[in-house]
Amino acid sequence: MISEDISNGQERVMVPVVNELDGESPTPFGYTRECIAGPNVSDSFKSSFYPGCECRHHCAMDSCSCLQSFGPSYDGKGHLHILGQQPTAFCQPVFECNSCCGCPESCPNRVVQKGQHLKLQVFKTECKGWALRPLEIVKKFAFVAEYAGELISVQEAKQRALQLTHETGNYLIVLREHSSNNQILRTHVDAHFHGNASRFINHSCNPNLVMVPVRVDSIVPRLALFAARDISVGEELSFDYSGQFSIWSTGKSPNKCNGMEVLRSCGTEPKRCSCGSWNCSGFLPFDPSLYVS
Ligand SMILES: [Zn+2]
Ligand SMILES: [Zn+2]
Ligand SMILES: [Zn+2]
Ligand SMILES: [Zn+2]
Repeated sequence: MISEDISNGQERVMVPVVNELDGESPTPFGYTRECIAGPNVSDSFKSSFYPGCECRHHCAMDSCSCLQSFGPSYDGKGHLHILGQQPTAFCQPVFECNSCCGCPESCPNRVVQKGQHLKLQVFKTECKGWALRPLEIVKKFAFVAEYAGELISVQEAKQRALQLTHETGNYLIVLREHSSNNQILRTHVDAHFHGNASRFINHSCNPNLVMVPVRVDSIVPRLALFAARDISVGEELSFDYSGQFSIWSTGKSPNKCNGMEVLRSCGTEPKRCSCGSWNCSGFLPFDPSLYVS
């Protein structure tokens, strides 16, 4: 056991780190449960933007203005049931109840904002460096972790991308959301210096997690990772850094959700993928848009 709890008590459940292969520890980083403001980004990115509902108890479809406008996205168990629906031209956005809502913290429309609830463990792999696995069964469509890090500007993201090498690793996620009026909203999160357990999740061409933007107070989405299928105890967690994978894909022909793109770029040139999936594309995703000025 390298660490009893890499979150230092910040999460509801401890996040231990183990290394059964050698004596190495993860490179130190600042632990943060959720995104923090990067250079030249105002802390106000978290402030409330959306109106709240006036519910006093658990929100229900017949009376809640939040659910009537945007939802419901979750079932009674907190699973993101919209993932099971047919794809539409644009991703159905997920909005949770926020700090202006009158409902209690136990409202079923509050999931990602409550943070990690599953027991997760960071561990060392043979050939992929560090990785993350659950210490309990994860049900399909359950919330697993938020991809937390520094929220940075597009200029900062491009600057940081130029400094990346395969040795330093890359924790930079670019999310592009396409709205119906042809606007593209970009969100850049870098988990290199600050992050949580999700920064250890490796890429797979056949992943068991899917990333979904979820909004609570802020117009800036939270990058939430949900289980794409049932996941067994100890099975390595993974998501597709290229965002090509969607829950609706058949596996043979990825049916990308048109409304958004996620990309975690891996260095300044394509690098071999070692995910070992039957459908492995051979290379890790690469985002050329970060290298054009
Ligand atoms: Zn509510
Ligand atoms: Zn409500
Ligand atoms: Zn509400
Ligand atoms: Zn692969």
